[in-house]
Amino acid sequence: MRTLAQVTATLTIDLDAIAENWRLADAQHPRMTAAVVKANAYGLGADKIVPKLAAAGCRHFFTAHLEEALKIRPLIPRAMLAVLNGLYPHNPAEFTAHNIIPVLGSLPEIAAWRAEAARLGRALPAILHFDTGMSRLGLATADALGLDTSGLTLEFIMTHLVSADSPNDPRNAAQAAAFRGIAKHFPKIRTSLANSSGIFLGKLAHSTLARPGAALYGINPTPHLPNPMRGTIRLTAPILQVQLLNPGDTVGYNATWTAQHPSRIAVLGVGYADGYHRALSNQTAAYFDGTPVPLVGRVSMDLTTFDITDTNAGQGDTLELLGPHHGPDDLARAAGTNGYEILTALGNRYQRHYIGA
Ligand SMILES: *Cc1c(COP(=O)(O)O)cnc(C)c1O
Repeated sequence: MRTLAQVTATLTIDLDAIAENWRLADAQHPRMTAAVVKANAYGLGADKIVPKLAAAGCRHFFTAHLEEALKIRPLIPRAMLAVLNGLYPHNPAEFTAHNIIPVLGSLPEIAAWRAEAARLGRALPAILHFDTGMSRLGLATADALGLDTSGLTLEFIMTHLVSADSPNDPRNAAQAAAFRGIAKHFPKIRTSLANSSGIFLGKLAHSTLARPGAALYGINPTPHLPNPMRGTIRLTAPILQVQLLNPGDTVGYNATWTAQHPSRIAVLGVGYADGYHRALSNQTAAYFDGTPVPLVGRVSMDLTTFDITDTNAGQGDTLELLGPHHGPDDLARAAGTNGYEILTALGNRYQRHYIGA
């Protein structure tokens, strides 16, 4: 396909920064560090990011879906690759054919995986997920007692923290204690506890294998403190047209913004269909040469408008929607969501450019 330079918005993804963030997380955690690359590596491109992280030394990868794991398996033939959502709705053979491990979170899944081991006549690797508070996927604590895992080679037991991003929440210590209690039933089996924020909780949430996702992509794992991670993305778009407004003129659907004085409005070809959330309407800014230009009016499906009156920006100039001045966490605050949703919603109409590929 021909590259339409200067027409579409450009999403620049810095693979070196992502690798650097993995090393930073790894240095912060005393034992091993995996990479969670579910949802296409949080929307940033698993096909590019997974080999980069493997080259940085990462040996354990988690996806949410089997389909996601199958896509990246050829890129990391020797790494541990596990599917957080577990065995269902697939057949065990779809996992064993590619040496992919389902994270087992229920007794029927364990039974099905053991039956597959018996069918193949060999032990199968397994990760057991215990639920210590999410009430999502996972075995009950009581299931740990006398659990029959014959035919399985337990790689890890794991659990997932409810409030790791809130270091003062007593749930962190309670879940860590519950997990240690469960681990007593699995002597010598390696453990996996911390997500991105968990790594920064200190000793409490340390285990054999941390499972960071968000922090690798630049989201702040310590929301109460300055971000220790490097920014990884930049989203820019050229100004398609400049509208000259008189006082009283309004902008966009339902006229939610009215010019108070003569104004220059820049129109960008990015909208909520590109993951530039409609909730950002009148709530955030883009940047021109480091100067904030307020988003005015409603975000439309394919267009968004910015007040560039106080700048000398013109048609063809580029505004920065996400970048060093304004990361996913900032945009998330303005939209009333989290950085995870900002990243995973980034659209497929951007021209994607990778640094360090
Ligand atoms: C998504 C996920 C992670 C990674 O969490 P981050 O907050 O992105 O670091 C780790 N473990 C489980 C079970 C998850 O679902």
